[in-house]
Amino acid sequence: MEKGVRICIGILAVLISPLLSGCIGSDALANLGLNRGIPGGLTLACLDGSTYTSMVVEIDYEAGYEPESTSTDLLIERLESVCDKPQGIELKLTETDFENEDIWSPDNVRDAGWDAKSHDPRDDSTLYWQVIFPAGVYEDSSVLGVAVDASTIAIFKDSIDDAENFFRRPSAEKIENSVLVHEFGHLLGLVNTVYTSPADHEDSSHPGHSNNEDSVMYWAIESSSIANFFDNDLPTEFDLDDKQDLQGLADGSIPCTDQLWKP
Ligand SMILES: [Zn+2]
Repeated sequence: MEKGVRICIGILAVLISPLLSGCIGSDALANLGLNRGIPGGLTLACLDGSTYTSMVVEIDYEAGYEPESTSTDLLIERLESVCDKPQGIELKLTETDFENEDIWSPDNVRDAGWDAKSHDPRDDSTLYWQVIFPAGVYEDSSVLGVAVDASTIAIFKDSIDDAENFFRRPSAEKIENSVLVHEFGHLLGLVNTVYTSPADHEDSSHPGHSNNEDSVMYWAIESSSIANFFDNDLPTEFDLDDKQDLQGLADGSIPCTDQLWKP
């Protein structure tokens, strides 16, 4: 029975996958059966401060793949600007041997991410979101980062290094800064993943992404062709439409679907 259900959900995911292509794991819907949610499934748990009063971002990295401190500083700053966490947002860094330095499928990312978690994503009054920085590349090697469920992200430093052009404009460090914030934007449901924005800012050719090149949610941020779109200055911030979407979700004026928790 369990297998039948999984196959059914798998087929559904294949049928729907063009809607979730790009750096949102294409089989993210397969997680509904495991209650791990889709990217954006813990949006309200992050935006609301009444039940989950603190947050921990857990980062597990393969030796030699530690995130840049500029990336993690920026990430905490951006999360603090949109999520209501009166007890604060903390970072927890751990070196981990993922035993895979080759190709990563969405399932590989999910399994390694969940093995690395020290807590359930919602534990007592704390929300835990997990990032892995493994060696190796995603199965689509043009993908620099991926959000595979409501609380799990992978960032592919090898691909980010490859995306840096000869002139280092933008540098791999700057690309990593933007990609990390971008993937957390997907965990916050951006753009239109768990809601419909009153503003017309989703890129019609790249679902789940912004059409504004000044937003960190701009579609090209996920892609190894990033250096073709930007000279040096990459966006690292959510734009006004992104922020107004998050504000509307937080105050309830924009309905939010597929939530693992609601206030
Ligand atoms: Zn993306």
